[in-house]
Amino acid sequence: MALNEVGATTCWRIHPPNHNTLRTCAQGNSELDWKYWGASSNLNIFRPQNTTKKLESIDVIFDEFLNSTSIFRDRECMRPDYIPNTLPHRNQQISRLSSIMAPTLRLTRCSNIFVYGKTGTGKTAVSRLVASRLRDKSDENSTPVRISYVNCRIAGTEYRILSQICSDVGLTIPFTGLAASEVLARLLCTLESTGRLLITILDEVDALVRGRGDRLLYELTRINESNSKAKLSLIGISNDLTLKDRLDARVLSSLCGEEVVFTPYTASELYDILQERIALAFRDGAVSQAVTKLCAARAAVEHGDARRALDLLRVAGELADRDHSPEVLERHVLLAERRMEYDRVSDALRTLPLHARIILCGLVDMDLGTHGASTGEIYDEYKKRCRLLSFEPLTQRRVSGILSELDSMGLVNAKLESSGRYGRTRRIRLSVAPEMVRDTFSRDLLSSAALGEKLVR
Ligand code: ADP
Ligand code: MG
Repeated sequence: MALNEVGATTCWRIHPPNHNTLRTCAQGNSELDWKYWGASSNLNIFRPQNTTKKLESIDVIFDEFLNSTSIFRDRECMRPDYIPNTLPHRNQQISRLSSIMAPTLRLTRCSNIFVYGKTGTGKTAVSRLVASRLRDKSDENSTPVRISYVNCRIAGTEYRILSQICSDVGLTIPFTGLAASEVLARLLCTLESTGRLLITILDEVDALVRGRGDRLLYELTRINESNSKAKLSLIGISNDLTLKDRLDARVLSSLCGEEVVFTPYTASELYDILQERIALAFRDGAVSQAVTKLCAARAAVEHGDARRALDLLRVAGELADRDHSPEVLERHVLLAERRMEYDRVSDALRTLPLHARIILCGLVDMDLGTHGASTGEIYDEYKKRCRLLSFEPLTQRRVSGILSELDSMGLVNAKLESSGRYGRTRRIRLSVAPEMVRDTFSRDLLSSAALGEKLVR
């Protein structure tokens, strides 16, 4: 085996003909990738790949990052789960929750509370802030108050919700295997024997009720009505304002002992929230008043959603950083908005159930023009595709329901239009770019089949 230097930078590695799979070879401190180059007499010749250059270019990116000054002072403060110490424009809700929960500091059970409002109105932040202060106070006074916070949407099942509550009072239960009634009995027993008062915050409780009904809520509210000495207060948080209509009358009267409503923020309230967060998260002068106003205004368009305003500013800040710009500019905000919209739509598309995908694929290929299509036309196209894929089609009524869901997700636009002597009919158009639907579904075989129907025909 011989290693020759040819010129200053090129080296060659020569091997007998049976060696043709040479991969790497250490040379000094750097690793070289060797590639078969050719044969000369009875020797194979390998040439080094430009690995060192590749490594250098990675280093350049890392060094650039380390040497550049970010416009963020503390990026963590822009994380979605960060809860600041002050929550502007939520004093009223903070005071209400604190005064309802205060009796627990004297080990008196407080009323159950129903907290509701649209997404991004501060329900989670306010509830967690008050709960954490209550925990500090009860620790200071050695009051045996325990607080359990569960996000029902993330927990997913009743069993997981219950096991998280149990673990928050120091009770371990197996991952699976017990009946819910058995878990509840053990929880009750632990609360009785320890004399603890438990405050259970069930966040996004609407997801639980939508998926599994209100049985667990009923069982939890019953604990206090039983003769046991266990003390449990419930705080249910809902993004869905109509949840109450779906609760059993007994659950409703027990859970909604007190109600705290979170109204959407106005653009000027969002401006104040952003300003406080900018002072924590960004360097001085990195975000102008005009840019703050723009973020607040864009987030207030649908409903005053603080999460949307903060996300918009964070993504705009990241784009400005990547541009090496010392400040966030309006174009960063507009670009951030487009990017977030793209992510929102592609997330929504990716999580659609199969039949909704087939319907959308049909819409992509139908020649909708400016008039859009009627539910009947969409249903015909959908049935054709189902036949092709050997699926049993859903009823027209069900497809019409799916179209309404797609409308509320912003993926299609359904409008009642007058159609002369036939009265008013619903015309449906795609609200997203057809390429986006194609791009997202092309990775999924079944949907691709639905999408490619025209080609097959
Ligand atoms: P909800 O639970 O109502 O959907 P969140 O409490 O999760 O809303 O709030 C969404 C985001 O906005 C969180 O990052 C939260 O910290 C922030 N936020 C909401 N309200 C305020 C406020 N008044 N001041 C500061 N930040 C807020
Ligand atoms: Mg929330």
